[in-house]
Amino acid sequence: MLPSQVSLVIAGGGPAGFMAAITAAEARLASGVPGAVLVLEATPEPLHKVLISGGGRCNVTHACWDPLALVGHYPRGGKALRGPFSRFATAESVAWFERRGLTLVQEADGRLFPSSQRSSSVVETLRREASRAGVLLLTGEALQAASALPAGGFQLRLRSGAQVRTDQLLLATGSHPSGHRLAAALGHTVVPPVPSLFTLRLVDHPLVDLAGVVMDPAGLELTTAGTPPRRHRQSGPLLITHWGLSGPTVLRLTAFAARDLKQAGYRGELKVDWSGGRSQPQLQQLFAELRRDQARKQLTNARPWPELSRRLWLHLLDRLGIDGELRWADLGRRPQEALIEALRASRYAVAGRGPFGEEFVTAGGVALGEVNLATMESSRQPGLYLAGEILDVDGVTGGFNFQHCWSSGWLAGQAIAAAGPNANGG
Ligand SMILES: Cc1cc2nc3c(=O)[nH]c(=O)nc-3n(C[C@H](O)[C@H](O)[C@H](O)COP(=O)(O)OP(=O)(O)OC[C@H]3O[C@@H](n4cnc5c(N)ncnc54)[C@H](O)[C@@H]3O)c2cc1C
Repeated sequence: MLPSQVSLVIAGGGPAGFMAAITAAEARLASGVPGAVLVLEATPEPLHKVLISGGGRCNVTHACWDPLALVGHYPRGGKALRGPFSRFATAESVAWFERRGLTLVQEADGRLFPSSQRSSSVVETLRREASRAGVLLLTGEALQAASALPAGGFQLRLRSGAQVRTDQLLLATGSHPSGHRLAAALGHTVVPPVPSLFTLRLVDHPLVDLAGVVMDPAGLELTTAGTPPRRHRQSGPLLITHWGLSGPTVLRLTAFAARDLKQAGYRGELKVDWSGGRSQPQLQQLFAELRRDQARKQLTNARPWPELSRRLWLHLLDRLGIDGELRWADLGRRPQEALIEALRASRYAVAGRGPFGEEFVTAGGVALGEVNLATMESSRQPGLYLAGEILDVDGVTGGFNFQHCWSSGWLAGQAIAAAGPNANGG
């Protein structure tokens, strides 16, 4: 039976909603303050994204322990997250899950996964803890409309037509448009959503014949086709695919360039430094040594350094029309300069977005300036709270998006419990 009056309604049974629900309900239990916490989940399956995340393993967070460094992984949010992360970030999340029996293990690249390697462990933990704390969960029921009452609190209309009155309301609806509509109706500005974390499609280029080649590090410089053109740089592992370019560095690049790329119709020029960051004089020196030390070897059989993929080296020779059977001693000045230029700054036309990576998030959402980031309470509407991806915050791939859900959900839950069920006169 759906109660007609509760103290807290949370719209959205995702990671942010569950973290807030558990935190608020546990704090109320501990302080003996009564008041029901109700989570409304529009679909039959709460925490669906957690279940499918990280290729079924759920990349819960990232081993970045310093809140000041952590904010550097959020193209939207950034420095504004210093305050929230100084109270609840990676260390607190890891401890929070461990206290509830879920241990995390770190991979070489810093990503943290449940030691079971199964995302279902995270879902089970959150559902069990919510149930233990007395959180009511209603699935297959969406929040459709919310209006603020003059004396405080909110009147809610659900998709089924049911009406519920609540003292406090938390919107944790992720990137779903219904949450944006609800926030806008309650006085908020919604920064238009655009996709983030995608791969890049190249205009018909023979580079894609090298699908599977990984270069680490590769330096990327993207100049978008928009007006004015915008420049973005990243460096790290790069994967060539049969449609273009992928890998963590491309996902990071597209996350930071998400808005500029959208404005440019996902077109631009990508300059790739295949040289591992070697300068022009360093490459000239290296080539001089190769002409001397490998003089009798053919170009195809002696690539400049071992980490340079042989397939890529042959491709560059071919593109420049340089005969691979040439001996190093016979490499002339002009082809040498062309090779050095190709290694340092090959240019590719970007034709659009490729498929998304394993993780997909939306940039945009409720403007951060309208939310008190110490409590996640709206500065437009007392008693209204927001957490998770509904906010104009998104991170790069690697567990940072869930981390923001744990942080904002926990802060909201704490603040809601501290404000008390009748904080708004309900
Ligand atoms: C395939 C995939 C893999 C990912 N992998 C990772 C990863 O490994 N690590 C990581 O950090 N991030 C990952 N992400 C991103 C991460 O899943 C999201 O950032 C995160 O789920 C956002 O959490 P949230 O609680 O804000 O919203 P959501 O998880 O989207 O949850 C919101 C919930 O609200 C419900 N809802 C919407 N509107 C209403 C309404 N009006 N009333 C009631 N309910 C409503 C929705 O049905 C949904 O269940 C991945 C994303 C995808 C798509």
